[in-house]
Amino acid sequence: MTTVYLGTLAHLRGNPFVRPNALEIIADGALWVDGDGRIAGYGRAGEAPETGERVDFGAAWLLPGLIDAHLHFPQYYAVAAANRGLLSWLRETVYPEEAAFRDAGYAAGVARALVARLLRGGVTCACVFGSQYLEATGALFEAAGQAGLRLIAGVTLMDRNGPDELLTTPERAWWANETLLERYGGDPRLHLALTPRFALSCSPQLLAMCGEFRRRHPQVYLQTHINETLEEIAAVQRAFPDAWNYLDVYERYGLLGPRTLLAHDIHPQSAELRRMAESECRVVHCPSSNLFLGSGLFPLRRHVEHGIPLALGSDIGAGLHLSVWEELSEAYKIQRLQGETPTAAQLLYLATLGAAEALELGGEIGNFLPGKAADFFVLDPGGDDYLDARLQRCPTLEARLFVLMQLAGSGHVRRTFVAGRPVSP
Ligand SMILES: [Zn+2]
Repeated sequence: MTTVYLGTLAHLRGNPFVRPNALEIIADGALWVDGDGRIAGYGRAGEAPETGERVDFGAAWLLPGLIDAHLHFPQYYAVAAANRGLLSWLRETVYPEEAAFRDAGYAAGVARALVARLLRGGVTCACVFGSQYLEATGALFEAAGQAGLRLIAGVTLMDRNGPDELLTTPERAWWANETLLERYGGDPRLHLALTPRFALSCSPQLLAMCGEFRRRHPQVYLQTHINETLEEIAAVQRAFPDAWNYLDVYERYGLLGPRTLLAHDIHPQSAELRRMAESECRVVHCPSSNLFLGSGLFPLRRHVEHGIPLALGSDIGAGLHLSVWEELSEAYKIQRLQGETPTAAQLLYLATLGAAEALELGGEIGNFLPGKAADFFVLDPGGDDYLDARLQRCPTLEARLFVLMQLAGSGHVRRTFVAGRPVSP
């Protein structure tokens, strides 16, 4: 049976960094969804099928489900700690909290809370650094599977430069990933990502294990960090003196490719950007995290010029926002500080269709094209007098969308759907 959802629709029909008019906004629009949770069509309300159930969201906006392409499960309660930059923040705040996930019961509670919170903020797909503990990361997969969140995740791997209780060995890391693949690999919404924390946390043997695992299982993702702070980059150079640059550390162990997600990349060398493009790596920009840790200003234009697929991440717990919608305003401001002016279309693309394409999920999610899964959320400015009045004064629908990016937050998300099924309140 078809269900028709009414509201203002906004989505991308292409890449707005290369194609003008990629943004489509339809006031008094409709999205119709078939009984399998697939989008059957969209258009003006008057064009919708007259049969089936109608759900009218009035003046609210219907937007494609958000994709948070980088966050840390065991840092859910480590957000907003005062810090003196990445490396000291890891030692003083993050590692102690991550060690608490040895308690599988505690981890399961946090997993349910995190997943519910993401869905409540309009996030329908997330790439997550799991716990160092297998059972805790298993609890994350269970919570996502039960609630409906699309998940790309794995055990966070580190075997040096951290407290003993968080360290693994290449053999245990292999076994943990095999276990997760066996348990969850059959679910089309759950994906394994090898997750070496970053070069400084990993011995050459652990990185080599990741490369070997990927050769054996080419469908798995690989997520890690790169070029986040200058202090970190200098430390990587000391730890891997033979490497040409930070990216080369990962390349030496066979970790680059289209399913490789590199978070941050705030300070890349041009040679690294060229090599990322050639090897089809994807980069995840984490705006509020970069500001909060004082890591630097993401060079968006250089990445776009190299044609590197991009996504956005909340980077909880260095970031502050549990909905990646709230990262759009931060992303805009980071570009303004560099003299750039991203459009509403470009910002929306980074959190929806662009991210879906970066994750090789563009055929399944990211916009409202018929045949895709009906992943969307309802952003409702109603009930917020000031926001409503401000929107009334916008000359265009695109201007309204931009204002929503700056002033609306997860508190304005009324409902979230995955594959046509409501997954939050
Ligand atoms: Zn991170």
